[in-house]
Amino acid sequence: MKVHKDDQVEILSGNDSGKRGRVLKVYPESNRVIVEGINFIKRHTKPSQKQPQGGIVTKEAPISASNVKIVCPKCGSASRIGYKKIANETRGKSERVRYCKKCDEMLVKTS
Ligand SMILES: [Zn+2]
Repeated sequence: MKVHKDDQVEILSGNDSGKRGRVLKVYPESNRVIVEGINFIKRHTKPSQKQPQGGIVTKEAPISASNVKIVCPKCGSASRIGYKKIANETRGKSERVRYCKKCDEMLVKTS
């Protein structure tokens, strides 16, 4: 998957189209992502110790990863992302990294 956790993404379709948010979770098996503040749904919860009455919580629901575009942290545009191979000197082999096709900035995992 191109989209990783903690990426900044822009939403391409639906009610939240054009909004931006941070990726909280990715589901590679289903090609879906959860984006902070995007696609809120209401869920009824069962009574618990904290909330003896039960209640309604709103939380983000997963959306398709094909409906988001990665926002480049450097140039700030929701641009096209490509892959390039770079040599990883500590591991002695090359690895695939994502890069912004607009400004050429590499999007390296921070975590
Ligand atoms: Zn860029």
